[in-house]
Amino acid sequence: LLQLSIPLNFIGFLYREIRQGLTDLEAMFQLLGQPAEITDRPGAAPLAVQGGTVRFEDVTFHYDADRPILRGIAFEVPAGRTVAIVGPSGAGKSTISRLLFRFYDVTGGRITIDGQDVRDVTQESLRRATGMVPQDTVLFNDTVAYNIRYGRPEASEAEVHEAARMAQIADFIAALPDGYRTEVGERGLKLSGGEKQRVAIARTILKAPPILILDEATSALDTHTEREIQAALDQVSRNRTTLVIAHRLSTVVNADEILVLEKGRIVERGRHPELLAKGGLYASMWARQQEASEAEERLRAATADG
Ligand code: ATP
Repeated sequence: LLQLSIPLNFIGFLYREIRQGLTDLEAMFQLLGQPAEITDRPGAAPLAVQGGTVRFEDVTFHYDADRPILRGIAFEVPAGRTVAIVGPSGAGKSTISRLLFRFYDVTGGRITIDGQDVRDVTQESLRRATGMVPQDTVLFNDTVAYNIRYGRPEASEAEVHEAARMAQIADFIAALPDGYRTEVGERGLKLSGGEKQRVAIARTILKAPPILILDEATSALDTHTEREIQAALDQVSRNRTTLVIAHRLSTVVNADEILVLEKGRIVERGRHPELLAKGGLYASMWARQQEASEAEERLRAATADG
């Protein structure tokens, strides 16, 4: 009996860990992806956030020593500004966000927040200061309210509703059979990708971190949903230092700086009009996206007619 109770306890422990932890990429990495060697330095101090200026200084990174992923990455996101990273699949965009979160340590150079090397501060304080809206949010098998409140468990009902409103999901929730008490997740009501992302945005609005990482969904969203999500993202990133892995044109156009990443290097950088004028990789990506969205619009119009 004793032999059996240990594994059962362990399963219970795992279940609680997973239930508490597996809400989003942020937590998933802590459980699955984070190499064991990432620990707090002895005497690590909590991160002291002033404005939340993020700097990458000549950052080099590889997962496997024989395959460099990032080389000479240098950029700054001034406090409260937005920098967008674009580039082909596999260029290393998500890796940059993982390094900022310190899921991995850089192999060369350094990353600082308000002048403090992320390796010198406690991970707990770093994660508290940073919010991530991932592409794919995994929701708890619990109520909508619970899923939003997870961002700040002590938030009042009014604050949860306000966050939902800012995230453009309040009307949707109001129309659900049990409103905020509706069960969602695998065993409850299934939400669409765009709805789940707005729940994640509401959660992040409640958490109110000074630094934000947005990983936009690659999947095609209809124009209406895209506009709603964009409005929600604008709300959450206002006055926050924001690093966005961008797939949508509407985001990059307004970014304070766009970094074009190719094979682990920044090959072009600047604001949208400058990059267009340059006629390089960004300009060709832009042209291709424009064509794709025009084709999609035509298809939609044709389907609507038929
Ligand atoms: P996408 O737009 O397709 O999401 P990305 O630009 O975000 O791509 P990354 O996810 O940063 O690209 O991946 C960059 C490279 O690193 C890829 O070649 C990928 O195969 C590799 N890579 C990513 N994660 C790991 C890992 N955990 N171990 C080893 N290699 C990895």
